[in-house]
Amino acid sequence: GFIWLDNEMVPWREAKTHVLTHTLHYGMGVFEGVRAYETARGPAIFRLKEHTDRLFNSAHILNMKIPYTKEQINQAQIDAVRENKLPHAYLRPMVFYGSEGMGLRAHNLKVHVMVAAWEWPAYMSPEALELGIKVRTSSYTRHHVNITMCKAKANGNYINSMLALNEALSGGADEALLLDNEGYVAEGSGENVFLIRDKVLYTPELTSCLDGITRKTIIQLAEEHGYTVREKRLTRDEFYIADEAFFTGTAAEVTPIRELDGRIIGEGKRGPITEELQTVYFDLVRDKHDR
Ligand code: PLP
Repeated sequence: GFIWLDNEMVPWREAKTHVLTHTLHYGMGVFEGVRAYETARGPAIFRLKEHTDRLFNSAHILNMKIPYTKEQINQAQIDAVRENKLPHAYLRPMVFYGSEGMGLRAHNLKVHVMVAAWEWPAYMSPEALELGIKVRTSSYTRHHVNITMCKAKANGNYINSMLALNEALSGGADEALLLDNEGYVAEGSGENVFLIRDKVLYTPELTSCLDGITRKTIIQLAEEHGYTVREKRLTRDEFYIADEAFFTGTAAEVTPIRELDGRIIGEGKRGPITEELQTVYFDLVRDKHDR
């Protein structure tokens, strides 16, 4: 296969970077997780423009100047899927500093961009989408994401995500739920979160979670299907007594949550509204209806 690296298609094994790559040491970099779905017209990248816009916004927030246009990065993603002959794919664009300098005061660092694409099987487990998952509230919080970083998908934010996820997995759960520094629910390790109560959807406002593209899509779809969606601060208790809850994300898609901190949510399985939203989401990404 091939990886798009700095405006060239490079054979997969040769797409390497030096051990002194600045981003490897200090975590200053931004990335995206994008998905191409199999459709009747061939592979189609879902929300390509939105992901590229967020990549550029993330880089701008970190004051990293991407030396390409958005059109070039869109095309790189299309080419990465096509060159690798993938019917469907997960795409990983990343913007990082090279090994031109070391230390926090390094200047003249070069901004590199790469786009990789590969086939990725079920993100959590094949059963997760149907049966729902067990979630544990994490002792790690989203404190440094508060306010500004929710618009940036930055490498450094994922140390917390990894710690939280590993904690959840070692405690026998499938995913972590992170709180903000005031104790309100923020998001999963790589997903936004929703709850449903009395047919109304609630999701945390964008103060301590990533501005998820799937989150936005689900809000639109739910409203189109006649549901009210409220963005507000939510507590753990509200999740415990919810009728239904689910995660959203490019990787997680719409994953039902059946248990949080040992408390069964609703019927302890995928709820009917979650299932309805999953169906309309999958129809949309697979381009089953004209829109
Ligand atoms: N929250 C975090 C921390 C993430 O890493 C992701 C994944 O990108 C999401 C939420 C969901 O965002 P999206 O729906 O754009 O994939």
